[in-house]
Amino acid sequence: MNPVRRLSEGTINRIAAGEVVERPASVVKELVENSLDAGADDIEIITAGGGLDLVRVVDSGHGMSKDDLALAIERHATSKLKSDDLLDINTLGFRGEALPSIGSVARLSIATRQQGSDMGHIITVDGGDVGALKPAGMDFGTRIDVANLFYKTPARLKFMKTERSENNAINDVVKRLAMANPHVRFRLVSGERQIFNLAAQSPEGEGRLKRLRDVMGEDFSHNALEVNLTRDGVTLTGFAGLPTLNRANSMQQYLFVNGRPVKDKQLTGAVRGAYMDFLARNRHPLCVLFLTLDPHLVDVNVHPAKAEVRFRDATLVRGLIVSGLRRTLEAAGHKASTTVADATVTSFTTPEFTNLAAKPYRSHSVDTGHRDRSQNSGGFSEAQATYHAPLNDIDRISVRAEAANSGEDETLEAQPLGAARALLHENYIIAQTKDGLVIVDQHAAHERLVYETMKENYAARGVERQALLIPEVVTLDPQNVATLADRADEIAEFGLALEAFGDDAIIVREVPAILGDFNIQALVKDLADDLEDIGATISLKERIDHVLATMACYGSVRSGRLLKVEEMNALLRQMEKTPHSGQCNHGRPTYVELKLADIERLFGRR
Ligand code: ADP
Ligand code: MG
Repeated sequence: MNPVRRLSEGTINRIAAGEVVERPASVVKELVENSLDAGADDIEIITAGGGLDLVRVVDSGHGMSKDDLALAIERHATSKLKSDDLLDINTLGFRGEALPSIGSVARLSIATRQQGSDMGHIITVDGGDVGALKPAGMDFGTRIDVANLFYKTPARLKFMKTERSENNAINDVVKRLAMANPHVRFRLVSGERQIFNLAAQSPEGEGRLKRLRDVMGEDFSHNALEVNLTRDGVTLTGFAGLPTLNRANSMQQYLFVNGRPVKDKQLTGAVRGAYMDFLARNRHPLCVLFLTLDPHLVDVNVHPAKAEVRFRDATLVRGLIVSGLRRTLEAAGHKASTTVADATVTSFTTPEFTNLAAKPYRSHSVDTGHRDRSQNSGGFSEAQATYHAPLNDIDRISVRAEAANSGEDETLEAQPLGAARALLHENYIIAQTKDGLVIVDQHAAHERLVYETMKENYAARGVERQALLIPEVVTLDPQNVATLADRADEIAEFGLALEAFGDDAIIVREVPAILGDFNIQALVKDLADDLEDIGATISLKERIDHVLATMACYGSVRSGRLLKVEEMNALLRQMEKTPHSGQCNHGRPTYVELKLADIERLFGRR
């Protein structure tokens, strides 16, 4: 057996580096966090070779004195822990590990000039070897160069991904820090390319949204709702994307705890719970959320890279996120995202005009003799020249439009979702608004309305049930039977009375009256699957809402039923006053709106 011996300082630092400096993006994160802790309002990041050849961070912070510089590169040396209280952390750094760790696996040089001092200093650490401290002429602030990262640890070097993916990771790190610090100018240059140059903004309100728009894009800022909720001293602020603006993964969810970017499963889970009603399980919302709380209520010292945190009261935080997001979405009412309309406009194709010139067209609206609305709809009769649909379709539109024209037309058009004019393909309601048109997916809209009505009924007085004349028996896996039987009481509150019928079947005796005639077999099977999939971590209320959503899907008007104009208008009015009616239970929009201006653009009139 070998004798026990103490590891050398260099080995210790390289072991620490293994945790703190996983890839070039970790270097960027540590250095930029140091700049922010130094109060910089201007930070430039320059990288080469995906950050492996060079990471340079130049800041306008308070800098370091000569003595502090000499100390800063030593292990566990920090200016940030005033007492030894690890729960009183108000800075991004506190472990005093980053600089020595980086210096042990790369060529590090730190040049710094303290505010008010007439000279700067520079020191280098090359693979753990500390060089002499020298004077340096420079501006106030700090400039740190990290070259040849991992040249001392070739094993780690082998794990690096492509230059592009290292660059992406760097962008992501800088993006997150930039979102949390709108008052700081950030410039990121990778190789020869400037990735972004974000102007400093005011830290509150408009400034924050501007910074988010710069980082996340126009789309997000147009489709995001402001979140603001305080409970028991914990504050949640930020922006939540509309459910219709969703992605296939949760990469675009940015969470911050006391200004620190975190990737925390618990928090992501809470976001998921909040949107569960509005999105299919494989779709993810976009959001930027800032949690602010007394530092004593959160432990940031659980992860060397400080990406995870522990809350003293995790339930409180989870509850705050779920209700903060839900309330925000609630307040949005029937709003659907503009992205959908934009995508619609771009997907319209411009027809070929060549053979049209030879063939004079007939205006169908004139043929059927109904009131020509072309004056107030921006020259639609001319636009019809390009419309090659069969004549009988158009006749049907006209007839319906005629019926709708007969009454309180103007008032209907003034409503957000307008006056119903036509039903196309037995599912799409076309409505005219003051300055555009709205296309409603009748099935999706109805499904959402049924769901919201069920929720409301449930909250008010429990759901009305209807006994089945002949109870329905559904054959299932024994495991599904057990799950459903376990939850029978809970499900019964929504009007579905079921019980186990032997080991491998469920018998349904009562159904929610609101659903009318529907496929009971399919509903029960889906309910069983849902209950299996959704773990015990989800609160009862969320589970119940989910059950309702599934039920609603079966009770909705199937596309294909021909609604009368009055029924269509009634549906539109109900959508306007129902919260969340802008999206169906799977996060798809229930309607899209095209502004007249967009339509005119389609026809080259603008
Ligand atoms: P930590 O950030 O956890 O304190 P670091 O190793 O990252 O540990 O940095 C050590 C110390 O060096 C910091 O506590 C700080 O005093 C000083 N320092 C590092 N970077 C800068 C900077 N950009 N500007 C001013 N001081 C800095
Ligand atoms: Mg640090």
